[in-house]
Amino acid sequence: MALPRIATTDVLRSLEDLYPDAHCALIHRNAFELLVATILSAQCTDKRVNEVTPRLFVRYATPGQLADAAIEDVEQLIRECGLFKMKAKNIVGTSKIIVERYAGEVPSTMEDLVDLPGVGRKTANVVLSNAYGIPAIAVDTHVQRVANRLGLVASDDVLETERQLMRRIPRELWSQAHHWLIDHGRQVCAARSPRCEMCALAVHCRYFKAQARAIRKKTVGGGV
Ligand code: SF4
Repeated sequence: MALPRIATTDVLRSLEDLYPDAHCALIHRNAFELLVATILSAQCTDKRVNEVTPRLFVRYATPGQLADAAIEDVEQLIRECGLFKMKAKNIVGTSKIIVERYAGEVPSTMEDLVDLPGVGRKTANVVLSNAYGIPAIAVDTHVQRVANRLGLVASDDVLETERQLMRRIPRELWSQAHHWLIDHGRQVCAARSPRCEMCALAVHCRYFKAQARAIRKKTVGGGV
């Protein structure tokens, strides 16, 4: 599929200028903590996850300890993250597999990661890029929305969005681009009310240009 026409280099440069310190917002000290935090972040804010994980990791610091944990106890510790029953089951199940199959080390391939309970492609990409330094683009709700609005991609499907971004963006920038798009989505390009009037990317943005065209058409059509 042909990608939309957009000045990708200019967009990436602007994003880098806007968010030079963009980084993973989930607090973690190692790959295992990041994996657990990312599982917890489904339909939950990073801020809330960061409030919950310290007390979880004080009680259960390693995959071995979480593998032996009572699910009901984990449920209570992570309750505020929502979907806590399913997440507790997945975290304990994932910990068991990490201990039994990988000697307590979080695996570092997409294939092995997505085999773990509660781990999808997005979570796997977060772990690969942030814990192991392997270039990857995790497509979350912000990345999906902002990339489509800007015109970097044209797809409703997150896997296709990931593929199009990988074709569009140089490999060495994949991980950073993921953080840039998230920061822009959080700070400017909000889901309901994007702040286009103060957006440095408006000059490149497909959504903004379409909105401007629609307003012009309406104005001309209205005879004003
Ligand atoms: S111009 Fe508007 S829609 Fe486009 S990236 Fe900026 S805030 Fe988002």
